[in-house]
Amino acid sequence: MKPGVVIDRRYMDHDMGASHVESPRRIEVLLRMLEKGPPVPYLAIPPRPATEEELGWIHERGYIDLVRSTAGKTVPMDADTVAGPKTWETALLAAGGLLESLDRVMDGTVPNALALVRPPGHHAEASQARGFCFFNNAAIGAEHLIRRHGLRRILIVDDDLHHGNGTEHAFYERRDVLYFSTHQSPLYPGTGAARFFGHGEGFGYNLNVPLLAGKTDADYLQIFEKVLAPVAAQFRPEFIIVSAGFDIAAGDPLGGMEVSPGGFGRLTGSLMAMAAQSAAGRLALVLEGGYDLPALRDGVGEVLMALAGKGRPLSSGSPEARKPVSPSLRVELAPALQTFRKRWDIPEG
Ligand SMILES: [Zn+2]
Repeated sequence: MKPGVVIDRRYMDHDMGASHVESPRRIEVLLRMLEKGPPVPYLAIPPRPATEEELGWIHERGYIDLVRSTAGKTVPMDADTVAGPKTWETALLAAGGLLESLDRVMDGTVPNALALVRPPGHHAEASQARGFCFFNNAAIGAEHLIRRHGLRRILIVDDDLHHGNGTEHAFYERRDVLYFSTHQSPLYPGTGAARFFGHGEGFGYNLNVPLLAGKTDADYLQIFEKVLAPVAAQFRPEFIIVSAGFDIAAGDPLGGMEVSPGGFGRLTGSLMAMAAQSAAGRLALVLEGGYDLPALRDGVGEVLMALAGKGRPLSSGSPEARKPVSPSLRVELAPALQTFRKRWDIPEG
């Protein structure tokens, strides 16, 4: 079966200025790749705007009103986040694009999906635009699966270079949405220490894996297979949403990670295996960061191949893909593992 893909030229309408890395060109290179001949056949899923009720599951009314009021204007929202004349419309279409892809996975039209939307979402707080983000697409998506589809356990995996502060805060005291994030540290936004493990009912359901720069395909795969997979096997998610950050690619201007295009495909394969265990394969990725345009394009291409079941075997491809696990990884993971084992059984080694 073909994976579903959400992408739309209107995602280029939000524009924070010619020198901003979160640029419409990110969508342009992806559209061009798909139009020239995608690596595998896919089913195009048309997006729709999210409703204000849907935004309200995560965002405060006053904040929604504030973003709506920027329509037709240019309004700075934080140091690096600017609402332009069409940002409101585009942000609604971004959240709604993910919701449509979730619906198509839930009704069996597609086995899995990739929502190539902007603006991204994981830094957006309940009442604040932050870090290029306006509405928290992934968080709204998790609420949609719970409220509209009656699911009880959602896993959000956030492999973006940056910590998803907004997603963490949205579900920090809940156990129906487990948030798992890998991120470079120290780096923007400064949140994401391993000791932030959830609170109250949600204690043990917020898992942060801060990492030093330089992590490779092998490092990320090791974290997914040895840390995330055992947690997922115990949590038994009914759906996996991925905040897919391509800013962990080698060469990204904002980060120091070294993931190869093929690495994104293999990480997707790992997540598909987890989704197959308890979620009947239900998996949807939503685009967050990724600012080196060729790396973004190539990484997305490999993810699509993986979603179609055509992922490449391990240790093929670029020199990055053949780098071994970093010698420091074990030491770096120790504090996170110590915390995670308060709630989850994670085997040694
Ligand atoms: Zn990022």
